[in-house]
Amino acid sequence: MTEHEKIDRKTFLGGCGKAFLGLGLGVSCGKSSSREEKVAPSGSGNSSPAPAGTADSAAPADTAPARPKIAYRTLGRDGIEVTEVGFGASRTMNPRLVDYALELGINFLDTGRSYANGQNEVMVGKVIKGRRQQVVINSKVRFASLEKMQKDLESSLSALGTDYIDSMLIHGASKPEHLDSPEVREFFSRAREQGKVRTFGFSSHSNFIELLELAARDKFHEVIMVPYNFMGSYEHMLGGSYNEWDSQALARAIESCGKAGIDFIAMKGCSGGFKKEGTGVQTYRAALKWILQNPYMKTTATAMGNFQEIEEDANAMGAGALNTEDKRLLEAYAASYSAWYCRMCGQCSGRCPEGVDIAGVNRLHMYAVGYGGGMARQARREYAALGNASAAACEDCTACRVRCAYGLPLGRKLTDAHALLG
Ligand code: SF4
Ligand code: SF4
Repeated sequence: MTEHEKIDRKTFLGGCGKAFLGLGLGVSCGKSSSREEKVAPSGSGNSSPAPAGTADSAAPADTAPARPKIAYRTLGRDGIEVTEVGFGASRTMNPRLVDYALELGINFLDTGRSYANGQNEVMVGKVIKGRRQQVVINSKVRFASLEKMQKDLESSLSALGTDYIDSMLIHGASKPEHLDSPEVREFFSRAREQGKVRTFGFSSHSNFIELLELAARDKFHEVIMVPYNFMGSYEHMLGGSYNEWDSQALARAIESCGKAGIDFIAMKGCSGGFKKEGTGVQTYRAALKWILQNPYMKTTATAMGNFQEIEEDANAMGAGALNTEDKRLLEAYAASYSAWYCRMCGQCSGRCPEGVDIAGVNRLHMYAVGYGGGMARQARREYAALGNASAAACEDCTACRVRCAYGLPLGRKLTDAHALLG
């Protein structure tokens, strides 16, 4: 696409937000397959714990929250009972958050061997000590030689302080061999025989529609964890990578897998999780309800950064179909997102005569506006480090000479960013 072939907001919303919000499962943004990620997202191996000063440290509400209606589905061929909403631990190293999620009744915890260099599993292990039977653990190892995967499994068991992992996945599968190589088959078959894993499969952030089609034919894996949300896209809050997909193709692939007996864990369910952007709408609960409309989605690996998010997310369980208000919230989010959201496509790179790093400024602006708190402070620090590539020059520019491929109003957006971050 050239810079002149911009996608205007009306086209985007007409082809994307409204269409999939109404359909529930048949989601489409009318876009082609996923874009190559620039930075590995959460769950792909280099995740780090939430930066100091994020909302992790916020306390639960003074008044006791309404108890969520706990609803279960079953995962894997042995029918492991999992709560419809699960806690994705990749974004936190705060055991109080995990503990609070369990206290509210969530029983599914997602972690990974590589999160925080193994320390995320250690943190989860401490929280579940003494209540292992009440918790369902999902963890992940990287595709490697049989010996290395077995060694990593042992490390996970040790870090978690358990002798079995309920659901073990190949982490970040992106090629057919990550699913069907002899090493993977041997690894999982043996681990199950030894009682070290109850069910298994893979997670994937890229090329996942093709991998799902393969899994549906192959019928070896029992569980798949994929990005799945009402937007058909997400931006990773720590890495900054952007990914979008053909949601109708994904829905078809999920259905093929579901009919082959494969269950799903949804990740990136809040499409980046911006809460306050534009309209101030809070969409997490509605976003999770949207996911749970799909019967093949058995639970979610939802990153929850503070106590309030845990409460909001937990209340999506047993909440039934999307109602008019949910749809309004999601549509408002989609509209806000479309008008604000930099897809990090790089098409404006090097176009500003003043040397402004447009995508970089936009990314930091979205963090500050969308997440606030510790992320806003971090965004200000990173913005200061941009030096001459910051948007300071935009203040003196009468008309932005760069055209965004997605129609973002760059002049206004960049001056707003500088006012907030500069
Ligand atoms: S407003 Fe001016 S200085 Fe800022 S990005 Fe556009 S052309 Fe560059
Ligand atoms: S502002 Fe963002 S979405 Fe627009 S062209 Fe630049 S990188 Fe792409």
